[in-house]
Amino acid sequence: MNNIEAFERATSVLVGGVDSPVRAWKGVGGTPLSFVGGRGAYLEDVEGKRYVDYVGSWGPLIVGHSHPQVVRAICERAQRGISFGAPSPLETELAETIRRTFPSMEKIRFVTSGTEATMTALRLARGATGRSLVVKFAGCYHGHHDGMLVSSGSGSLTLGQPDSAGVPQEVARCTAVVPYNDREAVKALFNEKGQDIAAVIVEPWAGNMGLVPPLPGFLEELRNLTAGHGALLIFDEVITGFRPSEGGVQQKAAIRPDLTCLGKIIGGGLPVGAVGGRAEVMDQLAPLGPVYQAGTLAGNPLAMAAGLATLEILASPGIREKLEDQATFFAQGLAEAARSCNLPLSVTRLGSVLGLFFSSSVPRNLDEVRATEGSLYPLFFHAMARRGHLFAPSPFEATFVSLAHDRSILENTLGAALEVFPELA
Ligand code: PLP
Repeated sequence: MNNIEAFERATSVLVGGVDSPVRAWKGVGGTPLSFVGGRGAYLEDVEGKRYVDYVGSWGPLIVGHSHPQVVRAICERAQRGISFGAPSPLETELAETIRRTFPSMEKIRFVTSGTEATMTALRLARGATGRSLVVKFAGCYHGHHDGMLVSSGSGSLTLGQPDSAGVPQEVARCTAVVPYNDREAVKALFNEKGQDIAAVIVEPWAGNMGLVPPLPGFLEELRNLTAGHGALLIFDEVITGFRPSEGGVQQKAAIRPDLTCLGKIIGGGLPVGAVGGRAEVMDQLAPLGPVYQAGTLAGNPLAMAAGLATLEILASPGIREKLEDQATFFAQGLAEAARSCNLPLSVTRLGSVLGLFFSSSVPRNLDEVRATEGSLYPLFFHAMARRGHLFAPSPFEATFVSLAHDRSILENTLGAALEVFPELA
């Protein structure tokens, strides 16, 4: 079976041939590749062709595909029970491991996706404050629950659906949208509606419109405004958690949010999300408090084991430095390659996540992201894919480097970029 046949077969039974829209390559055009294997830095498609993978399943695979330690942990766990639907010491162990590096997460609840984590965080914020309005930033993506599909990023942005059909106006009205990095706009909103605002939710580095860094003072302003008005500050670190350091952006920026959402890396490639934060807020959740939340597979033992194994690898001596070294080498190499071809390219980097913008300056918000030469991205994507290097199939997504992307692999990709960039300049 070749890729075209595999996708045609999929489209006859799966909606659009995919289970998550951005996988349909609408952002770059063409027929998506279908994969049968992943090992280290490589994916293998149904035709047996190998690709260096810079998507990493959209972030979880920070140690690479099928790292032996993660595979062993999953297999050993599976031999002893796949799901309990009851408390298990593994959940406690993963929660304790997370809390050691995210001390703001005094109490934690595991869920099965990032979407559930942010959904729970917002319900909790509303329950705890008795207010209904939440503030989000245009181009940030917090999963696909109704209230967050308003000026959303990621796949909804790629598909031109930042506001989804099916979200009632009454629900959308409970979300106020502000441009990313716009301190004045947030201040004005708090001045006008401060007593109605339950929470501000933010990606502390926005990783769903490329990778847009916060301007100096932006996150601090959010902390001050929320604290001053009795609202909660929610850091959605589903992408950024464990990327810049083991304590996420909050550690790097020395800001303590009230609630934090994690996902991706903490499940090592299996479905996991987590919400955690101040104990008195978290204790509002059932069974202790009045805010209901539940999950059949929440805290699933295989996912806990995969997450623990991944965090254990990341905590091994020298591993952080290695990741940092590889990602820096790659980011600088891409920027230099573009410069040598007179191609405007701005590369942003947070640990091992990169943002690539075909522009001479780094965008600060969604409007500026849209103003970059996004039309070059599909050309870049396909030219690199033909050479065996797979980037995200959308200009609005980030680029992920893993531990498995060693120097020789990265050099190879940079060599391919040097062939491709002149075609784009
Ligand atoms: N929050 C952020 C910052 C994300 O990037 C994502 C997904 O990419 C989510 C939430 C939703 O996570 P999930 O796809 O696991 O539901």
